[in-house]
Amino acid sequence: MSGKAAIGSRRQKTRLSLLYLLVLTFPITMNYFSPVIIMMAASDGVMNFSFFYWTGFLILSLLLGRALCGWLCPLGGIQEIKDRSVPKRLPNYHWLRPLKFGLTLVWMAALVALAALGGGYTRVDLLYLTESGVSIDRAAGWVIYGIIAGMVLLPAFFVGQRGFCHYFCPWSGLNIVGTWLKTKLRLWSLHLVSDASKCTNCGTCDRSCPMSLPVHEMVQRADMYHHECIYCGTCVDNCPSGAIRYRWGRPPDRVREAKQPAQ
Ligand code: SF4
Ligand code: SF4
Repeated sequence: MSGKAAIGSRRQKTRLSLLYLLVLTFPITMNYFSPVIIMMAASDGVMNFSFFYWTGFLILSLLLGRALCGWLCPLGGIQEIKDRSVPKRLPNYHWLRPLKFGLTLVWMAALVALAALGGGYTRVDLLYLTESGVSIDRAAGWVIYGIIAGMVLLPAFFVGQRGFCHYFCPWSGLNIVGTWLKTKLRLWSLHLVSDASKCTNCGTCDRSCPMSLPVHEMVQRADMYHHECIYCGTCVDNCPSGAIRYRWGRPPDRVREAKQPAQ
Protein backbone atom coordinates (compact mmCIF):
# COMPACT_ATOMS: atom_id res chain seq x y z
CA MET A 1 0.00 0.00 0.00
CA SER A 2 1.44 3.42 -0.98
CA GLY A 3 1.98 6.13 1.64
CA LYS A 4 -1.00 8.12 0.37
CA ALA A 5 -3.29 5.07 0.37
CA ALA A 6 -2.19 4.22 3.92
CA ILE A 7 -2.96 7.77 5.11
CA GLY A 8 -6.36 7.59 3.39
CA SER A 9 -7.18 4.23 4.93
CA ARG A 10 -6.15 5.46 8.40
CA ARG A 11 -8.20 8.63 7.95
CA GLN A 12 -11.35 6.70 7.05
CA LYS A 13 -10.78 4.23 9.91
CA THR A 14 -10.46 7.18 12.28
CA ARG A 15 -13.62 8.81 10.91
CA LEU A 16 -15.67 5.62 11.20
CA SER A 17 -14.29 4.89 14.69
CA LEU A 18 -15.37 8.36 15.83
CA LEU A 19 -18.84 7.89 14.37
CA TYR A 20 -19.24 4.41 15.90
CA LEU A 21 -18.05 5.69 19.29
CA LEU A 22 -20.67 8.44 19.15
CA VAL A 23 -23.35 5.87 18.28
CA LEU A 24 -22.29 3.64 21.20
CA THR A 25 -22.30 6.53 23.67
CA PHE A 26 -25.53 8.04 22.35
CA PRO A 27 -27.61 6.64 25.28
CA ILE A 28 -25.38 8.77 27.52
CA THR A 29 -25.06 11.85 25.33
CA MET A 30 -28.47 12.01 23.63
CA ASN A 31 -29.70 15.00 25.67
CA TYR A 32 -26.57 16.99 24.95
CA PHE A 33 -27.58 17.24 21.27
CA SER A 34 -31.30 17.39 21.91
CA PRO A 35 -33.22 19.86 19.72
CA VAL A 36 -36.18 19.53 22.11
CA ILE A 37 -34.42 20.11 25.43
CA ILE A 38 -32.79 23.25 24.01
CA MET A 39 -36.33 24.61 23.43
CA MET A 40 -37.51 23.66 26.93
CA ALA A 41 -34.41 25.35 28.32
CA ALA A 42 -35.06 28.45 26.19
CA SER A 43 -38.52 28.85 27.67
CA ASP A 44 -36.89 28.76 31.15
CA GLY A 45 -34.25 31.31 30.12
CA VAL A 46 -31.50 28.67 30.30
CA MET A 47 -28.55 28.18 27.97
CA ASN A 48 -28.00 24.41 28.19
CA PHE A 49 -25.32 22.23 26.63
CA SER A 50 -27.16 21.82 23.34
CA PHE A 51 -27.47 25.63 23.06
CA PHE A 52 -23.67 25.81 22.95
CA TYR A 53 -23.40 22.65 20.82
CA TRP A 54 -25.69 23.95 18.04
CA THR A 55 -24.20 27.44 18.20
CA GLY A 56 -20.74 25.88 17.84
CA PHE A 57 -22.07 23.67 15.02
CA LEU A 58 -23.05 26.79 13.07
CA ILE A 59 -19.90 28.81 13.82
CA LEU A 60 -17.50 25.94 13.13
CA SER A 61 -19.08 25.36 9.72
CA LEU A 62 -17.52 28.69 8.68
CA LEU A 63 -14.16 26.97 9.16
CA LEU A 64 -14.89 23.27 8.64
CA GLY A 65 -17.89 23.28 6.32
CA ARG A 66 -20.07 20.24 6.95
CA ALA A 67 -17.21 18.19 8.39
CA LEU A 68 -19.07 17.89 11.69
CA CYS A 69 -21.86 16.03 9.83
CA GLY A 70 -19.28 13.71 8.28
CA TRP A 71 -17.08 13.14 11.29
CA LEU A 72 -18.91 13.92 14.56
CA CYS A 73 -22.63 13.32 14.25
CA PRO A 74 -24.09 10.25 16.01
CA LEU A 75 -27.13 10.33 13.71
CA GLY A 76 -24.80 10.23 10.70
CA GLY A 77 -23.01 7.32 12.39
CA ILE A 78 -26.25 5.35 12.83
CA GLN A 79 -26.98 5.79 9.12
CA GLU A 80 -23.48 4.83 8.02
CA ILE A 81 -23.68 1.59 10.03
CA LYS A 82 -26.89 0.76 8.18
CA ASP A 83 -25.52 1.96 4.80
CA ARG A 84 -22.44 -0.24 5.10
CA SER A 85 -24.51 -3.33 5.88
CA VAL A 86 -27.46 -2.61 3.55
CA PRO A 87 -26.23 -0.20 0.84
CA LYS A 88 -28.87 1.72 -1.14
CA ARG A 89 -27.85 4.65 -3.32
CA LEU A 90 -29.96 7.72 -2.72
CA PRO A 91 -32.18 8.96 -5.57
CA ASN A 92 -32.18 12.71 -6.20
CA TYR A 93 -35.71 13.75 -5.19
CA HIS A 94 -35.76 17.47 -6.06
CA TRP A 95 -39.22 17.91 -4.56
CA LEU A 96 -38.04 16.68 -1.15
CA ARG A 97 -35.09 19.05 -0.96
CA PRO A 98 -36.82 22.13 0.53
CA LEU A 99 -38.33 20.09 3.39
CA LYS A 100 -35.38 20.15 5.77
CA PHE A 101 -34.77 23.85 5.21
CA GLY A 102 -38.40 24.47 6.16
CA LEU A 103 -37.86 22.33 9.27
CA THR A 104 -34.71 24.33 10.13
CA LEU A 105 -36.67 27.58 9.89
CA VAL A 106 -39.55 26.25 12.01
CA TRP A 107 -37.12 24.97 14.66
CA MET A 108 -35.16 28.23 14.78
CA ALA A 109 -38.34 30.32 14.90
CA ALA A 110 -39.75 28.17 17.74
CA LEU A 111 -36.49 28.52 19.65
CA VAL A 112 -36.41 32.30 19.33
CA ALA A 113 -40.11 32.60 20.21
CA LEU A 114 -39.76 30.39 23.30
CA ALA A 115 -36.69 32.32 24.48
CA ALA A 116 -38.54 35.62 23.98
CA LEU A 117 -41.69 34.37 25.76
CA GLY A 118 -39.51 33.10 28.62
CA GLY A 119 -38.04 36.58 29.11
CA GLY A 120 -34.71 35.92 27.39
CA TYR A 121 -31.68 33.92 28.45
CA THR A 122 -30.66 34.62 32.04
CA ARG A 123 -28.45 31.70 33.11
CA VAL A 124 -26.31 28.78 32.04
CA ASP A 125 -27.10 25.21 33.13
CA LEU A 126 -25.20 22.70 31.01
CA LEU A 127 -26.97 19.75 32.67
CA TYR A 128 -30.49 21.16 32.31
CA LEU A 129 -32.89 18.14 32.54
CA THR A 130 -29.86 15.83 32.61
CA GLU A 131 -28.88 16.23 36.25
CA SER A 132 -27.33 12.76 36.51
CA GLY A 133 -25.15 13.52 33.48
CA VAL A 134 -26.55 10.42 31.72
CA SER A 135 -29.31 10.97 29.17
CA ILE A 136 -31.05 7.61 29.53
CA ASP A 137 -31.38 7.13 33.26
CA ARG A 138 -34.91 5.69 33.24
CA ALA A 139 -37.02 3.41 31.01
CA ALA A 140 -38.80 6.29 29.24
CA GLY A 141 -35.42 7.40 27.89
CA TRP A 142 -35.19 4.19 25.81
CA VAL A 143 -38.54 4.99 24.21
CA ILE A 144 -37.19 8.39 23.10
CA TYR A 145 -33.99 6.68 21.92
CA GLY A 146 -36.07 4.23 19.87
CA ILE A 147 -38.08 7.06 18.31
CA ILE A 148 -34.89 8.92 17.31
CA ALA A 149 -33.24 5.76 15.91
CA GLY A 150 -36.41 4.97 13.92
CA MET A 151 -36.69 8.55 12.64
CA VAL A 152 -33.13 8.37 11.33
CA LEU A 153 -33.06 4.79 10.07
CA LEU A 154 -36.38 4.73 8.21
CA PRO A 155 -35.25 7.25 5.53
CA ALA A 156 -31.88 5.48 5.31
CA PHE A 157 -33.64 2.15 4.62
CA PHE A 158 -36.49 3.33 2.42
CA VAL A 159 -35.09 6.43 0.67
CA GLY A 160 -31.38 5.68 0.52
CA GLN A 161 -28.01 6.14 2.18
CA ARG A 162 -27.81 9.01 4.63
CA GLY A 163 -31.39 9.73 3.55
CA PHE A 164 -32.15 11.48 6.84
CA CYS A 165 -29.18 13.87 6.34
CA HIS A 166 -30.28 14.65 2.78
CA TYR A 167 -33.95 15.27 3.12
CA PHE A 168 -35.02 15.48 6.76
CA CYS A 169 -32.29 16.70 9.12
CA PRO A 170 -33.27 20.22 10.25
CA TRP A 171 -29.90 20.76 11.95
CA SER A 172 -27.91 20.23 8.77
CA GLY A 173 -29.48 23.50 7.61
CA LEU A 174 -27.21 25.32 10.11
CA ASN A 175 -24.11 23.72 8.65
CA ILE A 176 -25.24 24.31 5.08
CA VAL A 177 -25.71 28.04 5.76
CA GLY A 178 -22.21 28.25 7.28
CA THR A 179 -20.64 26.27 4.42
CA TRP A 180 -22.39 28.33 1.77
CA LEU A 181 -21.31 31.58 3.46
CA LYS A 182 -17.66 30.60 3.83
CA THR A 183 -17.57 29.49 0.18
CA LYS A 184 -19.34 32.62 -1.08
CA LEU A 185 -17.13 34.96 0.99
CA ARG A 186 -14.07 32.80 0.25
CA LEU A 187 -13.17 32.58 3.93
CA TRP A 188 -9.99 30.72 4.86
CA SER A 189 -11.31 27.24 5.59
CA LEU A 190 -11.30 23.52 4.81
CA HIS A 191 -12.59 22.59 1.36
CA LEU A 192 -12.11 20.11 -1.48
CA VAL A 193 -10.26 20.76 -4.72
CA SER A 194 -9.90 18.58 -7.80
CA ASP A 195 -7.64 18.16 -10.80
CA ALA A 196 -9.69 16.86 -13.73
CA SER A 197 -6.52 16.18 -15.75
CA LYS A 198 -5.65 13.35 -13.32
CA CYS A 199 -9.13 11.79 -13.48
CA THR A 200 -9.36 8.43 -15.29
CA ASN A 201 -13.18 8.41 -15.23
CA CYS A 202 -13.22 5.22 -13.15
CA GLY A 203 -16.34 6.28 -11.22
CA THR A 204 -15.01 5.13 -7.82
CA CYS A 205 -15.77 8.51 -6.25
CA ASP A 206 -19.43 8.38 -7.32
CA ARG A 207 -19.81 4.83 -6.03
CA SER A 208 -18.11 5.48 -2.68
CA CYS A 209 -19.62 8.85 -1.72
CA PRO A 210 -21.84 8.22 1.36
CA MET A 211 -23.99 11.19 0.32
CA SER A 212 -24.56 9.79 -3.21
CA LEU A 213 -23.22 12.99 -4.79
CA PRO A 214 -22.19 13.26 -8.47
CA VAL A 215 -18.53 13.57 -7.48
CA HIS A 216 -17.08 12.68 -10.90
CA GLU A 217 -19.17 15.43 -12.47
CA MET A 218 -17.98 17.87 -9.78
CA VAL A 219 -14.37 16.93 -10.58
CA GLN A 220 -14.91 17.49 -14.29
CA ARG A 221 -16.59 20.83 -13.59
CA ALA A 222 -13.65 21.84 -11.36
CA ASP A 223 -16.19 22.89 -8.72
CA MET A 224 -16.15 20.65 -5.66
CA TYR A 225 -18.70 22.74 -3.76
CA HIS A 226 -21.92 20.87 -3.06
CA HIS A 227 -24.16 21.87 -0.17
CA GLU A 228 -24.65 18.19 0.73
CA CYS A 229 -20.91 17.40 0.84
CA ILE A 230 -20.06 16.42 4.41
CA TYR A 231 -16.28 16.59 3.93
CA CYS A 232 -15.98 12.96 4.90
CA GLY A 233 -12.98 12.57 2.58
CA THR A 234 -14.15 9.20 1.23
CA CYS A 235 -13.71 10.42 -2.36
CA VAL A 236 -10.30 11.88 -1.49
CA ASP A 237 -9.15 8.62 0.05
CA ASN A 238 -10.62 6.30 -2.60
CA CYS A 239 -9.67 8.11 -5.80
CA PRO A 240 -6.92 5.89 -7.28
CA SER A 241 -5.30 8.76 -9.17
CA GLY A 242 -5.31 11.45 -6.50
CA ALA A 243 -7.61 13.76 -8.47
CA ILE A 244 -9.39 15.04 -5.34
CA ARG A 245 -7.81 16.44 -2.21
CA TYR A 246 -8.56 18.40 0.93
CA ARG A 247 -7.15 21.91 1.08
CA TRP A 248 -6.94 24.55 3.79
CA GLY A 249 -7.10 28.13 2.53
CA ARG A 250 -9.39 30.43 0.58
CA PRO A 251 -11.91 28.38 -1.45
CA PRO A 252 -11.74 28.84 -5.24
CA ASP A 253 -13.85 31.55 -6.84
CA ARG A 254 -16.71 29.35 -8.09
CA VAL A 255 -18.00 31.78 -10.70
CA ARG A 256 -14.59 32.39 -12.25
CA GLU A 257 -13.23 28.85 -12.12
CA ALA A 258 -16.20 26.58 -12.75
CA LYS A 259 -16.21 24.75 -16.09
CA GLN A 260 -18.77 22.66 -17.90
CA PRO A 261 -18.26 18.91 -17.44
CA ALA A 262 -16.18 17.28 -20.17
CA GLN A 263 -18.35 15.35 -22.67
S1 SF4 B 1 -12.30 8.28 -8.35
FE1 SF4 B 1 -10.80 9.81 -9.11
S2 SF4 B 1 -10.17 8.99 -11.09
FE2 SF4 B 1 -12.07 7.90 -10.54
S3 SF4 B 1 -13.73 9.12 -11.52
FE3 SF4 B 1 -13.48 9.92 -9.41
S4 SF4 B 1 -12.03 11.63 -9.59
FE4 SF4 B 1 -11.88 10.42 -11.49
S1 SF4 C 1 -18.07 14.49 -2.21
FE1 SF4 C 1 -16.40 13.39 -1.14
S2 SF4 C 1 -16.12 14.47 0.81
FE2 SF4 C 1 -18.12 15.09 -0.04
S3 SF4 C 1 -19.61 13.70 0.88
FE3 SF4 C 1 -19.00 12.77 -1.06
S4 SF4 C 1 -17.27 11.41 -0.57
FE4 SF4 C 1 -17.57 12.79 1.20
